[in-house]
Amino acid sequence: MRRPVLMIAPPDPLTVPPWPPTEAALPWAFFLDVDGTLLEFADRPSAVRVESELASTLARLNRATGGAVALISGRAVSDVDALFAPLVVPVAGQHGAERRSADGRHHRYPALADALRPAAKALAAFSARHPGVFLEDKGMSVALHFRLRPELQDTVTREVSRVAGALGSAWAIQPGVLVCEIRPGGRDKGVAIAEFLAESPFAGRVAVFVGDDLTDEQGFRAVNRHGGVSVKVGAGETAARWRLADEAAVRRWLGTCAERLDRRPVGERA
Ligand SMILES: [Mg+2]
Repeated sequence: MRRPVLMIAPPDPLTVPPWPPTEAALPWAFFLDVDGTLLEFADRPSAVRVESELASTLARLNRATGGAVALISGRAVSDVDALFAPLVVPVAGQHGAERRSADGRHHRYPALADALRPAAKALAAFSARHPGVFLEDKGMSVALHFRLRPELQDTVTREVSRVAGALGSAWAIQPGVLVCEIRPGGRDKGVAIAEFLAESPFAGRVAVFVGDDLTDEQGFRAVNRHGGVSVKVGAGETAARWRLADEAAVRRWLGTCAERLDRRPVGERA
């Protein structure tokens, strides 16, 4: 399969990503992180909301690309589905530990959920001892959120390291913005995006990935290897080649992308 090559040189310094060229021979595929990218953070992951404007932008983008929109999240796939219902798109959940393809097949890698139970129990006990620190148990990964207790960063990181160490080398620690997680090793967002890019309807397209956090860096590198458009949200060191200021800027940029692609005559759509 021929790899898509974007014929736009990345600007220097990092700046707003290009729009999808409406006359492009190679259509675009959109891979989007959720929290901190499409949605503003809330105190708890369960407290975020999807506004109707974002829902309609994603639905329009999905239609205009022939279904080449996937959500690449640290959340569980079922959680992403519930957030964006009634929209159903391909999803990589738990940083790539599970993935639902465009054909509806659900991949879980690997089936280690039982091995994680003692860790979930230990971290639940830790969160009970530290008010304001919340455990998110996603089945194949567990996260401690300390958005309300940022001063506990070192304590939380030490505890997650201790618990992960007891699990053995099949597991990895995933630090993030005011969150620290344990996820299966060998699976990350870059692997998940590469797998989507080998499948319909993503194969052969220019890959776009937008994300905000450390876990998204593997995704940026995967998209860069494919000659795609990597977009970091917010400040900070990154492998991404473009940048958007915040979640609202991402929603505006995606809105314009959807509008441009949706204006093309039906016969020319992806
Ligand atoms: Mg994020």
